[in-house]
Amino acid sequence: MWLDETLHPGIRQSLRADNILHREQTDHQDLVIFENPDFGRVMMLDGVVQTTEADEYIYHEMLAHPPVLAQVAAKGACENVLIVGGGDGGCLREVLRHARLRATMVEIDQGVIDLCRQHLPNHSAGAFDDARATIVISDGAKFVAKIDERFDVIIIDSTDPIGPGAALFTEQFYRDCKRCLTAGGVLVTQNGVPFLQGDELAAGYRKFKKLFRDGAFYVMPVPTYNGGFMALGWATDNAELRQTPVAEIASAYNEASLTTRYFNPEIFAAAFALPNDIKRLMHSGC
Ligand code: SAM
Repeated sequence: MWLDETLHPGIRQSLRADNILHREQTDHQDLVIFENPDFGRVMMLDGVVQTTEADEYIYHEMLAHPPVLAQVAAKGACENVLIVGGGDGGCLREVLRHARLRATMVEIDQGVIDLCRQHLPNHSAGAFDDARATIVISDGAKFVAKIDERFDVIIIDSTDPIGPGAALFTEQFYRDCKRCLTAGGVLVTQNGVPFLQGDELAAGYRKFKKLFRDGAFYVMPVPTYNGGFMALGWATDNAELRQTPVAEIASAYNEASLTTRYFNPEIFAAAFALPNDIKRLMHSGC
């Protein structure tokens, strides 16, 4: 059996499903978790590949470590992190590898958490039960609009801007996130694949530039996110943050005793070096 990804109108990515582990319409999304010979267990939501056992480490390491390590380098510590989305638990797992912080994860769909605990246990690897983690079931946009807590890092590990995820790409949401950041804190967002979702990149950059002193993107390849580089948004009032010297990132990395499969301190700097076509896309909406 083959399952088709339907994110892009003109492209179909088909993945062989040797064994459907679970399929249901949760309160918010059509969820399927299946086994594929190349990528291991795969989760799709509303027909879009979200995460796979084989390549999730790239995405989750790059989502978590650049912002946390930059905060540690800039402030001496990163104490409080908010994750919006991230129901598979991979981002929470990576964030909690930094011993001296606490994390709140706001996920709209309890079904994603429950089914990923059961069928993708290595994603969360116990993170949901970590005493430093607070799990909230809510629309992230509603949560951020009313919370009084402040966070050094806010990570938007969302689906694409369709269905429940659309609320996490608005200017008002980014404005609310900014209000919830500590001084010099940083917002990181899942911003799609520029080659196929350039309008998402341009729209995000336009909002970042309007709301923050520094808006940027950093990139990495995630094999199951079709179309080349995946972009993560970076928005902060500390314009020097993404210029943090590699040596300072390395010092924070070593102090945290991190062992990572993709990320390393040199990649912190390299990932922000964007090719001209992505730079052009970024500025196309401004
Ligand atoms: N790695 C994926 C990607 O790059 O597309 C994201 C994975 S993670 C599974 C996406 C999560 O965002 C899902 O668990 C989904 O339920 C959650 N989500 C979508 N809209 C949300 C919202 N408005 N508030 C909170 N969580 C949301």
